[in-house]
Amino acid sequence: MPSESPILSTEFAPFLIEPRFVARIWGYRDLRPWYDFLAGDEPIGEVWLTGDDCRIASGAHAGGTLGQLFEQAPAELMGPAVPSGSPLLLKMIFAKEKLSVQVHPDDAMAQKYGQPRGKTECWYALAAEPGAEVAAGLKPGVTMDEIRAGIHNGTLEESLRMLPVEQGDVVFVDAGTVHAIWPGSILLETQQNSDTTYRMYDYGRPRELHIEKSLEATHLTTHAGKIPPQVLSDRTVLLDADYFRIERIPVTGSRASATLAQADEPVGNLSYLFAASGAALLSGEGFGPVEIPARGIAAVPAASPAFTVENPGGLDLIRISPRWPKPKPEPTR
Ligand SMILES: [Zn+2]
Repeated sequence: MPSESPILSTEFAPFLIEPRFVARIWGYRDLRPWYDFLAGDEPIGEVWLTGDDCRIASGAHAGGTLGQLFEQAPAELMGPAVPSGSPLLLKMIFAKEKLSVQVHPDDAMAQKYGQPRGKTECWYALAAEPGAEVAAGLKPGVTMDEIRAGIHNGTLEESLRMLPVEQGDVVFVDAGTVHAIWPGSILLETQQNSDTTYRMYDYGRPRELHIEKSLEATHLTTHAGKIPPQVLSDRTVLLDADYFRIERIPVTGSRASATLAQADEPVGNLSYLFAASGAALLSGEGFGPVEIPARGIAAVPAASPAFTVENPGGLDLIRISPRWPKPKPEPTR
């Protein structure tokens, strides 16, 4: 497939996205020091960083939503010849209590039920208390009948494969994995942009369950688990999976945008820059400086002109980029 580069335009310079604070019964009322935010009546569990309803907070498209911009300008955001729609959903997860045990469908099952894509996800622990753990998959040998019995008898937790979580850990959770986030860690979640969650078990809480769909979506064995980082000379690759790549990019003083992408990425790949700590300053010719605050995020469209990332001190920069499915070879006749 020819890899044309999109026409660069300051209209598509990097822009900030306003986080959306989403109420969840298992969340926190006070998100400080991560965000200067105190919840009202309902606790906040998720901070959506790149949701379709998130507002664009700087640049030529400020005030519109991210979803609208992906509809209006897919090629400028993602480059030519890629599927339409925003590919990735990034969230911060603040779990004060256990999240439900759940399963997401893979692409094939999602499409069977009219959704554009399934959901493979991963968690990157920005912080973890001693004893923090998550469930990622099932214990070896657990059968579908045992899962079904565990749901009905309230003993499903005994079948879950629990993983201890420490700061810096990356846990990959591919579609079809039975999983649950438990309290004790602050997570950056990267996932395919899908809203499809089948809740399998909720510890007796009165929320709706989707037992049959969750069982249909379940794969007894998956690739879920902790992923060791790959340390390269100019970055650390935290995860390189089918749908996304997550990297920690060291910035000593400043760094040119041309050095952010890896050689195998499509020309002008979409990416997101997330400041896990500290702040990042982006500046380039023809657009005002963009400051990414701590736990803030900027989108770097495919059509963005070149820019410089500056580290005023204390920046921990995480770059998340979509991985596109390889084009299928033409059938031979
Ligand atoms: Zn999930």
